[in-house]
Amino acid sequence: MALSGLDIYKLLPKTNCRECGFVTCLAFAMQLAKKGVSLDKCPHLSDEAKSKLQASSLPPIKLITIGEGEKRLEIGNETVLFRHEEKFHHPCGLGFIIEDSEADEQIKKKLEKISQLKFERIGQQLEVDLIAVKQTKDSKRFQEVVKLVSQNSGFSLILMCNDPGILKEVLPAVAAKKPLIHGANAENVNDIGKLAKEFKAPVVVCSKGLDDIADLTKALSSQGAEDLVLDTGVKSVKEKIWELTQIRRLALKKSNRSFGYPILISIDAKDPYEEIMEAATYIAKYAGIILLKSIENWQVLSLLTLRQNIYTDPQKPLQIEPKLYQIGQASDKSPLLITTNFSLSYYTVLGEVEASKIPAHILSVDTEGMSVLTAWAAEKFTPEKIVDSLNKAHAKEAVSHNKLIIPGYVAVMSGDLEEKSGCQIIVGPKEAAGIPSFLKNL
Ligand code: SF4
Repeated sequence: MALSGLDIYKLLPKTNCRECGFVTCLAFAMQLAKKGVSLDKCPHLSDEAKSKLQASSLPPIKLITIGEGEKRLEIGNETVLFRHEEKFHHPCGLGFIIEDSEADEQIKKKLEKISQLKFERIGQQLEVDLIAVKQTKDSKRFQEVVKLVSQNSGFSLILMCNDPGILKEVLPAVAAKKPLIHGANAENVNDIGKLAKEFKAPVVVCSKGLDDIADLTKALSSQGAEDLVLDTGVKSVKEKIWELTQIRRLALKKSNRSFGYPILISIDAKDPYEEIMEAATYIAKYAGIILLKSIENWQVLSLLTLRQNIYTDPQKPLQIEPKLYQIGQASDKSPLLITTNFSLSYYTVLGEVEASKIPAHILSVDTEGMSVLTAWAAEKFTPEKIVDSLNKAHAKEAVSHNKLIIPGYVAVMSGDLEEKSGCQIIVGPKEAAGIPSFLKNL
């Protein structure tokens, strides 16, 4: 846990020797707490103070990277229990398990389907992250399937195998892709630790009990394998949530380094609805990776949407750049619609304009990411603001008809806006769903 300036001061020599460049030890401590200076500037620290201060500057939950390049997945490094305290930083990875007992053709079809699970929502591309290859057959078959998956998909890999001998044969071919080894247990911990170190791969620590997990993470760290992910096995949702909460509390509130790692969960529900509800629960609290069986669009889209929402900053509304957007082959005769720069408002209007198949201009006004009614109530969506946006975006020059369409909810401002903008104001529908018929009848 990060120490306060006063906590740090208690660990300093308190001689005010000024060798660090600060007038007093207290001034140095305050800067160190703000991360404005590095620890090595004080040459007089005791070994004990140094190790305590170094430990306090580490993130309470380690950032773990799986995979390489653009598609690499970063998980962990979370700092809060509740997202309203700050935000959750690294969205949990979503992935699927492929067993080496499946036929090659079946695997290729699955990979094809998984690679198509891409969705655009409020301007962001949503997609899944991982494929876990599960070893159930011999080493040769496992190697073949790992190769097949690695060559036919760009996803980060998880190698689900706890036989160090088999992993030693597979890892040289895929080590450059930084796969996640799943995993180390009480029986193989030393051998897996050696492999993790040799191939610089992160490792999943597997055990049913929290005490055993702590022993295993300590054993692996002492071997130099420090990029770890925790897996406490398949359990009921109730038990799992209790465990996930305990692990995050121990890491954040008790600074227990043995639990300061992200958590992997494999869902084993038979019913597809149950599977998705379970996964949704763990997205909210506190999974680092979730492995699923089902790969249907409706399931994955709902989870990706939830993940997108959970991992946004609750104090900052999602917003788009405030400017004039041309939709379709918009010309100077095309209608000009006004909305706010709240992503959900803009993309809802955009979707309906596109559905109307009528090219149009949309001016998104900078309302600091507030929706129409909220912005109007907060005086961020006023005639003055709209006129300012029209001028900045040269929107009036883009059309020859001098007409603006405003959302129906702010019809009350039409007179004032007409006066201030010099444009004819047309009041549009209250709900975006009314836009297609409105535009067709305009
Ligand atoms: S160098 Fe260390 S002991 Fe000297 S003033 Fe700075 S913090 Fe204090």
